[in-house]
Amino acid sequence: MQEAYSFFRSLKNYSCALQSRVLSILAVSLLLLVSSSVYSQTYPLMKDKYINDYAGILTPGSRKRIRKYLLTQVKQNRRFMTLMIINSLSDYGKSLTIESLATELFSRWEASNALKNKGVLILISKQDGKIRIELGKGYSRQREASMRRVIDTVMVPRFKLERFNEGIESGIRSIDATLDFSPELLLSAEPRSLVRQFIEGIPRWAYAILGIFGSILIWPHVKHYLRYRPRTCKKCQSKMERLDDKREDMYLDEGNLLEEKIESVDYDVWLCRNCLHILITRYSDASEYEVCPECSYQTLEVEYEIIESATDYSEGEERFDYHCLKCQFTETQYKVIPVKDLDAIG
Ligand SMILES: [Zn+2]
Ligand SMILES: [Zn+2]
Repeated sequence: MQEAYSFFRSLKNYSCALQSRVLSILAVSLLLLVSSSVYSQTYPLMKDKYINDYAGILTPGSRKRIRKYLLTQVKQNRRFMTLMIINSLSDYGKSLTIESLATELFSRWEASNALKNKGVLILISKQDGKIRIELGKGYSRQREASMRRVIDTVMVPRFKLERFNEGIESGIRSIDATLDFSPELLLSAEPRSLVRQFIEGIPRWAYAILGIFGSILIWPHVKHYLRYRPRTCKKCQSKMERLDDKREDMYLDEGNLLEEKIESVDYDVWLCRNCLHILITRYSDASEYEVCPECSYQTLEVEYEIIESATDYSEGEERFDYHCLKCQFTETQYKVIPVKDLDAIG
């Protein structure tokens, strides 16, 4: 599918890249022949659906944020990403390359993946300094070039500084933003005008870069500004003060405190020193917890399991187990996964 990208080398020339693709395919198939007959090949197990970190480089905080993010993607039915980090390729056989490992893992994982065509596998080999992103069949081949740009411009620079967690988190967000961004939509507008010609003149990678910049550079600043901008009291027009974590707890109830503890919601408490008016603002970013129908706090845990994957011809089934950490409300729901290819039945 794609080349493997060494941290310190990247192919700039397309024809050169194409040639090496052919060569690496040849090389991989030769190696597969050799390895199947001589070595017994082992593969890292995908014990977890979302994150498997055999090199132990993710901090608990980072792991939590990544899981939250990947879960949200699945819930919104956008795509299914999985992250595999290994220590070294040589742990799994002498002749293993990052390409062959990624291809093998992807095909095994794809079989059990509900969002089959929207699958994305990120494979990182720490000691070999290699990253590879495999995309499902639902993505056009042009996407591969933009994936390479994410690796080169977002992940590798941070890895070189040994900021692995940051590199992985930013990388995942950029992959997501890049795959969401579709230049084709912009081009579909009629009539053909100067503006459109101008847009067509911009190479696709420029849109990808724009998507990356939009999502990781600008949006967090806007969010930060909106959240921490100075507030004035509605009652007396005095400047309000934002309380620190300890003091704000006095104004939050038990449910709010639990929400903060499990990081499903973050509250800010603003106090007017003049008239003691209180303003509480609520922030809940992509959280794996949902709002409980019983107690209304965002403390509803969701476990998701595919009972049967949908195929091109038959529906699948998935199960959602809900459990509220605040009021202990519990519920199980079964949902139908639609047939993959509707044209195939009609
Ligand atoms: Zn006031
Ligand atoms: Zn509840």
